[in-house]
Amino acid sequence: MAKRDYYEVLGIEKGADERSIKKAYRKLARKHHPDASDESPEVAEKKFKEISEAYEVLADSEKRSRYDQFGHDGVDFGGGGFSWDQFSHQGDISDLFGQLFGGRQGGGGGMGSIFSQLFGGGQSQPNNRGNDLRYDITLDLKEAFTGIEKEITIPREDSCKTCNGSGAAKGGTAKTCVTCAGQGIVRKVMQRGFMQTVSTDTCSDCRGTGNVIDKPCKDCKGSGIVSVDKKIKLKIPAGADDGYRLRMRGQGSAGPNNGPKGDLYIVVNVKRHDIFQRQDNEIILDLDISPSQAVLGDSIRVPTLAGNVKLSIPSGTQSGDVLRLKGKGMPDITRPSIKGSQHVRINIKVPKPNGKTRKLWEELKKLDSTKPSFLDRMRDTFG
Ligand SMILES: [Zn+2]
Ligand SMILES: [Zn+2]
Repeated sequence: MAKRDYYEVLGIEKGADERSIKKAYRKLARKHHPDASDESPEVAEKKFKEISEAYEVLADSEKRSRYDQFGHDGVDFGGGGFSWDQFSHQGDISDLFGQLFGGRQGGGGGMGSIFSQLFGGGQSQPNNRGNDLRYDITLDLKEAFTGIEKEITIPREDSCKTCNGSGAAKGGTAKTCVTCAGQGIVRKVMQRGFMQTVSTDTCSDCRGTGNVIDKPCKDCKGSGIVSVDKKIKLKIPAGADDGYRLRMRGQGSAGPNNGPKGDLYIVVNVKRHDIFQRQDNEIILDLDISPSQAVLGDSIRVPTLAGNVKLSIPSGTQSGDVLRLKGKGMPDITRPSIKGSQHVRINIKVPKPNGKTRKLWEELKKLDSTKPSFLDRMRDTFG
């Protein structure tokens, strides 16, 4: 199928200026966007791709002049047609997308889903966006209880300060890479038997930037990007549980070509505590008490994450009883003023009698009217 003339696609004159090209594209993109269009999704998607392709060429003065001279051959997108990789490479289209669809590139959900719907999934971010990074941090339960603030060091890629990310030394200039025609990617055709697969690869001559620097910056060797150990102030709120993830927007690596930065994900591991067990915001503590404490009751001090507190053991407490210390559990991570409880699980620890206590236990045994007899219990059960 012959390709339509790009000017015709956008409905503009051959001599149209940049502004009218942008205006025409924006109007058509709104009209034919598959999420907004009245047309069938297939038709809308086809049209949308067509106008996006036309816009990519005509909005780029270099591609436009190649197109004006050589027609479609001058800016061939190849047999596979228009690809998202090529599309997303151009910054101002992404900007336009941001305006059109109410989100900035790299903003996650909204844009990503539109991109994947349009271009069949997979790549949900513009391809010059920097990498997301992950940092694992292990806290003990007490740190999770109070929250922490500390400085961490993240090895990441930053935009080179010397050249402002351009990769060019003072007086040097960036020229469009000839190998990939400024696309930053090259097509690779592989033949396997009868099957031919076409894949794209980052252009090695320009490292995917689309530009070649004649006098490269010394600090970044022309890449525009340097590896740094970035110190970041990390704040984990009180109440973080094991597996808690914190997203720090724009603290990931810088993208090539001054692309948007990726995000940094902090993943929290919380160590098991020796005596406190955690269930969400509740804390469980197993506590041994003596038979006399159980019978007579007592007032003792027990540990909590906030320090020792007084606990009243009521007279007649049984093994397995749970005594609750309200508000002595973990703070809720979203509402730290709300805290769980500490639950003290009682276990009556029976001591071996010694020379001093044996006599007393024997006295008690004689007096003990509640001593349950096995035969009594049998009678209760079977009538
Ligand atoms: Zn290249
Ligand atoms: Zn540099």
